[in-house]
Amino acid sequence: MPSSLTPLQQALITWFQEKQRALPWRQEYIPYQVWISEIMLQQTQMERVTLFFEHWLREFPDIQTLALAREDKVLKCWEGLGYYSRARNILQCARIIVRDHDGIIPSDQKSLLALPGIGPYTAGAIASIAYNLTVPLVDANIGRVFARLFDIDIPLSRAGKMLWQKAEKLVPEGRARSFNQGLMELGALICTPKNPACGQCPLNPFCLAHREDLITERPVPRKGKTISTIEMATGVLTHPQANGQFFIQQRLADDVWGSLWEFPGGRLKEKEQPEQAVVRDFFEETGFTVRVDRKITTTVHHYTRYKVILHCFLCSLDPLESGEIPDPILYAAQEYRWVIFPELADFAFPAGHRKLIEFMKEGKE
Ligand code: SF4
Repeated sequence: MPSSLTPLQQALITWFQEKQRALPWRQEYIPYQVWISEIMLQQTQMERVTLFFEHWLREFPDIQTLALAREDKVLKCWEGLGYYSRARNILQCARIIVRDHDGIIPSDQKSLLALPGIGPYTAGAIASIAYNLTVPLVDANIGRVFARLFDIDIPLSRAGKMLWQKAEKLVPEGRARSFNQGLMELGALICTPKNPACGQCPLNPFCLAHREDLITERPVPRKGKTISTIEMATGVLTHPQANGQFFIQQRLADDVWGSLWEFPGGRLKEKEQPEQAVVRDFFEETGFTVRVDRKITTTVHHYTRYKVILHCFLCSLDPLESGEIPDPILYAAQEYRWVIFPELADFAFPAGHRKLIEFMKEGKE
């Protein structure tokens, strides 16, 4: 039974009902769709997620279809969203839900938290947004709104418990779907990290940081995080006989970027040149002795805590006396293929390698 709303709850819910963005998963609030959208939204912009979400639903329209899917198809569909472990967890979850819950995504927190890749945030999102249960929710947007609304004077990284307690106290009985989404939407559209639009904010009359003119100081910044740079090299090896074929290999399942495909290569050792690293890595990973023919490009990709600089080279096998192509010995991979360029689109690659493929596709090399 919905309880009567406080002025703050009412102001936020009214604002959300009027201003919310029309998003595909907000049409019917189907739990499967809410779950997928929430995982996709972690670390990816809304505009991009909408495109990925629609593509995903065409491939896996429901949890039963997903549960039966092959992992490589799921990874391919996830390509571009990063953090492939999330895609693997989604697949594992789908299989567990079909096996143990008759294909119905659970709504209680205990069952949700027992599923792989589902933490308090996602469990709260599924319970409150999909099932409208009175469950609190805190994400980065909500954390920022609370830091200002309640004038929290410690960095958010240290305020986790306090934020969840406030969220629990605020969420109105029977109106969690609108209220929690209202907070998230407010953080995304109005109470933005820089230059919040306080003049248009429904919580303006309740906001302590606004009243005290402390908005630029909330949230309290945490100590700057250090971003480390990792330098890597990779080689696109051409087939010595079959014109236009390239060598790719599938990484081991339990490795970083597990089960993704790649051109062999790896991290540069101290004082090593990228060209030397490619030759060494090829030998260590496949047993192939290659020579570097030329540089293709250098890609740069930023992750949360590090930046990867990837030097990319075109390589060929060292001339073989017999003229036969040896089979690779896979030391760092589970499978390999010789593929022509258009076939690369069928395999999921890590971001740096995908940038390399895009570069080659545009004929810039
Ligand atoms: S008044 Fe400004 S700072 Fe306060 S919650 Fe609204 S947008 Fe954020």
